[in-house]
Amino acid sequence: MRQNTLLAPTLREAPADSEAISHQLLLRAGFIRQLAAGIYTYLPLGWRVLRKLESIVRQEMDAAGAQELLMPAMQPAELWQESGRYDVYGPELIRLSDRHDRAFALGPTHEEVITALVRDEIQSYRKLPVTLYQIQTKYRDERRPRFGLLRGREFLMKDAYSFDTSWEGLNRTYWRMYEAYGAIFARCGLNVRPVEADAGAIGGEGSTHEFMALADIGEDTIASCTHCDYASNLEKARAGDRGAQTSTDRTSVIPQPEKIHTPNIRTINELVAALDIHANELIKTIVALVDGKPVAILVRGDHDVNEIKVRHYFGGAANFEMADADTIERLTGAAVGFLGPIGLDLPILADIAVARMSGGVAGANERDFHLRNVQPLRDIPHAQIGDFRNVAERDPCPRCEEGTLAFNRGIEVGHVFKLGTKYSEKLGAAFLNAEGKRQAAIMGCYGIGVSRMLSAIAEQNHDAGGLVWPLAIAPFHVHLIPVSIKDETQMQAAERLYQELSARGIEVLLDDRDERPGVKFKDADLFGIPMQVVVGKQAGEGLVEFKFRNQTLKNTIPIDEATRRIMEKMNSIG
Ligand code: ATP
Ligand code: MG
Repeated sequence: MRQNTLLAPTLREAPADSEAISHQLLLRAGFIRQLAAGIYTYLPLGWRVLRKLESIVRQEMDAAGAQELLMPAMQPAELWQESGRYDVYGPELIRLSDRHDRAFALGPTHEEVITALVRDEIQSYRKLPVTLYQIQTKYRDERRPRFGLLRGREFLMKDAYSFDTSWEGLNRTYWRMYEAYGAIFARCGLNVRPVEADAGAIGGEGSTHEFMALADIGEDTIASCTHCDYASNLEKARAGDRGAQTSTDRTSVIPQPEKIHTPNIRTINELVAALDIHANELIKTIVALVDGKPVAILVRGDHDVNEIKVRHYFGGAANFEMADADTIERLTGAAVGFLGPIGLDLPILADIAVARMSGGVAGANERDFHLRNVQPLRDIPHAQIGDFRNVAERDPCPRCEEGTLAFNRGIEVGHVFKLGTKYSEKLGAAFLNAEGKRQAAIMGCYGIGVSRMLSAIAEQNHDAGGLVWPLAIAPFHVHLIPVSIKDETQMQAAERLYQELSARGIEVLLDDRDERPGVKFKDADLFGIPMQVVVGKQAGEGLVEFKFRNQTLKNTIPIDEATRRIMEKMNSIG
């Protein structure tokens, strides 16, 4: 490809509203352009990378035995009503109607369509198991589209759906997909960590994993062990018991709760400072509405409530909402900041770490007063004890005896999930088993954010000069830069090399623009094509400069040697 006619409009400055470095660089290097919030055009360079990502995804999915198809984005609302998701999906679902006023939705995901297809087309266990996938444009009216392709409203996803005749079968399919995902991310040069994630109420055997690309900009927190391979999304992470004390044997020695005057002290920090104690000696009382019903949750002052764990306690409640100040006063009669568990007329959940406290400070349910010496097991006997908090850094690992938990930020680039019969039952996707009995298919679903991957790779692979693409997914393999297109010797050498490399299947971008060398080199670094060949003054002697984009070392070598090095590097990606 000749750069002179390539549509890759570069920008000196990133637009002010681009926060993520990947977003800035993809805009600046002319890989993408925004059409509306969360909606992008992939320009030729960006599209070339996406096509390579797609191709790796295809190869690995095909190798894992999945079959590709393509389903419509526009889906009749009736299907979504059948599954029960038309209402619960909420404002993220883009709804529209046709000229006959029939309701449709733009697919945010395709469980409904694929399950209806399999219901209609597969009747016998002989046709199972089957895994079907597509690479297709999804629509989600995200509340906060941001970070460029990381959270879009129109984006490219690979979604796969498996149909098995048994849970054991699903288990095999699930782990095959898990392995395929590992291979995909490795080939694309993404540093990814599979983590346990919350399976919701429909997880069947409860297993689900998210594949997290490590990056500070990531919206998810990963808790992982410093010693073993335990890694979990924060929403699901558990803390180990190691080193935990129980307070039961000490209940008797703790004096009765005693009121202390704490005028105008409302926050944890103020309380800690005023009483000269540590936050782990405080009992925080949080009032929430779980599916509209009020409940008080107790966690230690240095801990946070985990809303997902609370929702699970209530059998997978759909809604968790912190009560506002007015609601709290109405329900408890206590002012925010002085709320406490003793004498509270609400169902109470106490986190295990609270139950283990041997005398803490809590609100007294009276303005300007707290209580000390609160012994949860003794003083709040009706509290339900359980795991209701987020783990904290340095908590003991729940799996091994040595490690502690450390936190990282991650971008969810993939997700594998056991659905069980949730959709097959609702939509009637049943088959006749070997005994001639009708049985609902056991499903799994497996997503990869293909366009999100593009940004995640950019997030992990850049430097001060611009993007640094891994070879396997780079828009071109070689950036060939004659310093001056007016110099005939240079141009002849460059053209010859261009032809020769192209003939060997190497993708070369030839910078045939009449620009100053500085501009060309800056753009080359911004684009991030992994190998750069500069044809300059020594072209007449058959010498060029060769450089890998991710290294600073530049070598002046004979043209043949440059070709040899390029071919050698190409062999490394197979
Ligand atoms: P998130 O928690 O980030 O909103 P999700 O859990 O809703 O994602 P899934 O329904 O599991 O996402 O979709 C499968 C994959 O699609 C995700 O792992 C992610 O890589 C990608 N994806 C989801 N939402 C978006 C989006 N708004 N923009 C780009 N990619 C997305
Ligand atoms: Mg997900």
